Amino acid sequence: MSSEIKTFDVLVLEGDGIGPEVAAEALKVLKIAGEAAGLQFQFDYGLVGGIAIDKEGLPVSRETVQKARNADAIILGAVGGPEWDDLPTLQRPEQGLLGLRVTLDLFANLRPARVFDPLADASTLKREVVSGIDLLVVRELVSDLYFGEPRGFRTTEEGREAFNTMRYSEREINRVAKVAFDAAMRRNKKVTSVDKANVLEVSGLWREVVCEVAREYPDVEVDHQYVDNCAMQLIRNPAQFDVILTGNMFGDILSDEAAMLTGSIGMLPSASLGGSSALYEPVHGSAPDIAGQGKANPLATILSIAMLLEITCRNAEAADRVRRAVEAVLNDSYRTEDIMSDGGKLVSCSRMGDLVAEAVRSG
Ligand code: NAD
Repeated sequence: MSSEIKTFDVLVLEGDGIGPEVAAEALKVLKIAGEAAGLQFQFDYGLVGGIAIDKEGLPVSRETVQKARNADAIILGAVGGPEWDDLPTLQRPEQGLLGLRVTLDLFANLRPARVFDPLADASTLKREVVSGIDLLVVRELVSDLYFGEPRGFRTTEEGREAFNTMRYSEREINRVAKVAFDAAMRRNKKVTSVDKANVLEVSGLWREVVCEVAREYPDVEVDHQYVDNCAMQLIRNPAQFDVILTGNMFGDILSDEAAMLTGSIGMLPSASLGGSSALYEPVHGSAPDIAGQGKANPLATILSIAMLLEITCRNAEAADRVRRAVEAVLNDSYRTEDIMSDGGKLVSCSRMGDLVAEAVRSG
């Protein structure tokens, strides 16, 4: 019997700033949710970001990348901080994360933005606009303007010039579109593909390939929006969206905009999928301004654990159990400082983790 139980290999990369604090709470919750669901995990640890620069001389070592390759899932806290801000771009902590994404070919970034009802007033938008929002941004992560060649600076007769290349191949669009349509099949069966097809050839190809993929998913409704319109629609009527599918640069901007619907960056999980392993991390950074003070909100990382349970472990029930636990704790008015409001009970990062873990245990 026990030989049938798969053990999931999880690599934990806590990183810098509040990374270790939020990762610790997420692990607490994962262990309890795993026990409740009969899942087994084996944990390994590694360094990434500033701490890896200090201790191993690189933002991510080859050994850590190899461990990441072998893992089923990677849980990452956050990287960066003022100590490393003066380093040249290619030696900075963020390169550790970019290196992992590219080496592991994590081409699809999933960022759900869900408004928990008790927090609907925390958004800068009106309650009636954000209430019940539950959308997913699927952003292509390893191509587009950020990686296209040629890129660079040059000096011409007219002065300095800089250039980047926006480029997508059919294969790159096809594979990320499939991730979005598969996700829509598990949700409300609607994909909004976002591009700038009225101006860009790259977007013309994007739209063509998305339409081809859509034919394989007759149950999914698909529509297309220009990126400028989508930016407006996200504020005007975010409830119209289920899955938003878009490229790397448009997705970078739109996913942060979608994030703000939920009130705090401390609430936003993410998953990056591609090769054999998947990386789960909160959307926020290392928050050096509050690091080490017990003020960090661990819910983004805990909700990333729910994604791990759903996607890597394929256990939707365990994932729901974690999400329900988060909702129950918020309904009981427990708040970290970033989501605090009148009548809330202020708790530390580790107390919030304990509360969610207890709620998971009691189902
Ligand atoms: P940030 O997300 O770290 O912080 C922005 C603001 O949000 C700060 O006021 C911070 O206190 C608050 N905040 C963030 N997460 C929070 C949480 N869980 N609970 C409560 N409050 C939270 O962004 P930043 O200040 O622009 O960047 C700080 C460092 O993080 C930089 O070095 C940056 O490069 C790095 N960064 C890393 C990642 C990543 O690891 N994925 C992402 C973004 C930024």
